[in-house]
Amino acid sequence: MQKYVLFLYLVWISLESVAEPVFRIPTINEALWDDSTQGYQTFFAPTNSGKWESGRFGCVRSEGWKFHEGIDILYTQQDQKGEPKDLIFAAAEGIVCYVNHKSGLSNYGKYIILGHKIEGLEIYTIYAHLSRIEDQVTPGRRVEAGARIATMGRTTNSGSIARARAHLHFEITLVINENFDQWFQKRNPGSTNDHGVWNGRNFLGLNPESIYKEQVRLQKNFSLRGFIRNQEALYTVFVNKVDFPWMRRYVPLVQKDSDLSAEQITGYEITFNPFGVPYRLKPSKREPMKSNSIELLHVEEIVYSKYRCRGLIKKQGKEFKLSKSGLDLIKLLTFVE
Ligand SMILES: [Zn+2]
Repeated sequence: MQKYVLFLYLVWISLESVAEPVFRIPTINEALWDDSTQGYQTFFAPTNSGKWESGRFGCVRSEGWKFHEGIDILYTQQDQKGEPKDLIFAAAEGIVCYVNHKSGLSNYGKYIILGHKIEGLEIYTIYAHLSRIEDQVTPGRRVEAGARIATMGRTTNSGSIARARAHLHFEITLVINENFDQWFQKRNPGSTNDHGVWNGRNFLGLNPESIYKEQVRLQKNFSLRGFIRNQEALYTVFVNKVDFPWMRRYVPLVQKDSDLSAEQITGYEITFNPFGVPYRLKPSKREPMKSNSIELLHVEEIVYSKYRCRGLIKKQGKEFKLSKSGLDLIKLLTFVE
């Protein structure tokens, strides 16, 4: 009995003292922690511009007009031919969801998508431009955090990635709609969607660098839910729909303290961050302008002036409007088969 109590006590101690990060860095490149320009230059792979900032997440390309939906982690080791040798590890415990072995089918080249359940949220990590994928990495297989899954490469279907800037393109991301393929076929009749629901367009990336830094800052108080709920607001939209996949999948993002009854709810007020992540959903009794209408309710002007790369809203004269891609995102988000 005493032994048992002691064992529990030791387990409790170890759980208390070692704060396991929610996400690990998926390569051996740890230069991010240097928190200096030199460290960042060693950690982030630049685009052809040569600027390390272009390997970050966000409006970091083409003078801020082009979006990068992940981070590019630079190689640390090369073989004799100058090819990257860095091994790639699972950023968190999860399930292999998708493996693409055909470089020519995606600008991600060879890539892996892992699925994770974290604090009740369905989260995915994407590992792209791989040269080799481990044999045991097949859909449905379980992987431990830190398990070796692949080797860094330079694969892509568009142009080429120079050896000097070989990197892992890495995303921490949310999935938009399980009916993506039906939506895609409806919109693009006759076109092929090689990756089904695992098409990059069906994902909305979070900023991995911010997540890593918040984990270190908050230690065991870090919460992924809290991180997502604290995104910066760019705009809020009313959608005259009461049931759609996102609100079911990301229940923790739906406001619970609403005093509206189910019969009163006509739709949801959805707030998006500057990169299109719908991170707050509030039940609404607003009278819709027409059936199934999508209405832009509010835009944060200062935030709008800081982040223009996603182009989800536009300003016409003094008025803000949803752009075509902004409308598309909401249609996909609320698409029901
Ligand atoms: Zn990238």
